[in-house]
Amino acid sequence: MKRIILASFALLATSYIQAQTKFQPQDTEFYTPKLRTVETAPNKAPSDAIQLFNGANLNQWVSSKDPSKPADWLVENGILTVKPKSGDIQTKENFEDFQLHLEWRSPLEIKGEGQGRGNSGIFLQGLYELQILDNNNNPTYVNGQAAALYKQQPPLLTATKKPGEWHTYDILYSAPKFNKDGILVKKGTITMLHNGVVVHYNTQIEGTTEYIGLPQQKSHGAGPIILQDHNDAVSFRNIWIRPL
Ligand code: MG
Repeated sequence: MKRIILASFALLATSYIQAQTKFQPQDTEFYTPKLRTVETAPNKAPSDAIQLFNGANLNQWVSSKDPSKPADWLVENGILTVKPKSGDIQTKENFEDFQLHLEWRSPLEIKGEGQGRGNSGIFLQGLYELQILDNNNNPTYVNGQAAALYKQQPPLLTATKKPGEWHTYDILYSAPKFNKDGILVKKGTITMLHNGVVVHYNTQIEGTTEYIGLPQQKSHGAGPIILQDHNDAVSFRNIWIRPL
């Protein structure tokens, strides 16, 4: 029996080697499609990105409370800052799958604790919150700290910075897919770098990120990016998106 198995392996190996030697290098090289070119530079959006906030204005944003009204946050010296109690803001445009870059910082003045310190967030398609929070000496539930998929999945680690220092989030988002009957056929996923370090690697989205209760599955199409007003003066800059 052993001899038969060894002979079979030898035969397989010989066929493999014979098959490979039939190829020339160019047989597995191709030149189409012709790829478009994207220009890149340090600290700049790629040339094909949609600038959601480039320091000048909030033209790409509206109020989430009433999307017929303009976004009412503060823009000063190229920086966007939450106007506490004015409500969330959201992009005019809706998105499906995308690459998103943004930079944020918590207020220099430390006040509040736990979820009450430097809290904001980014809602992907308006439904799934990636948390923004000042984590410095500020214990809270781990699936509610900065970079958590809120109350679902903590980040792989804490890539923190001091209050007032700028953080970067780079997010690759694959939206959940639903069939025509509204049944989930593929869960959404998030891969994310926080300050250049991987904190989510194909994290599966279980549903909406609820403050109270379990995630809810609801069928949806394209949705906006929402930035959260959690009553803290968190600031943003250099926000861009590339639909995928
Ligand atoms: Mg939040």
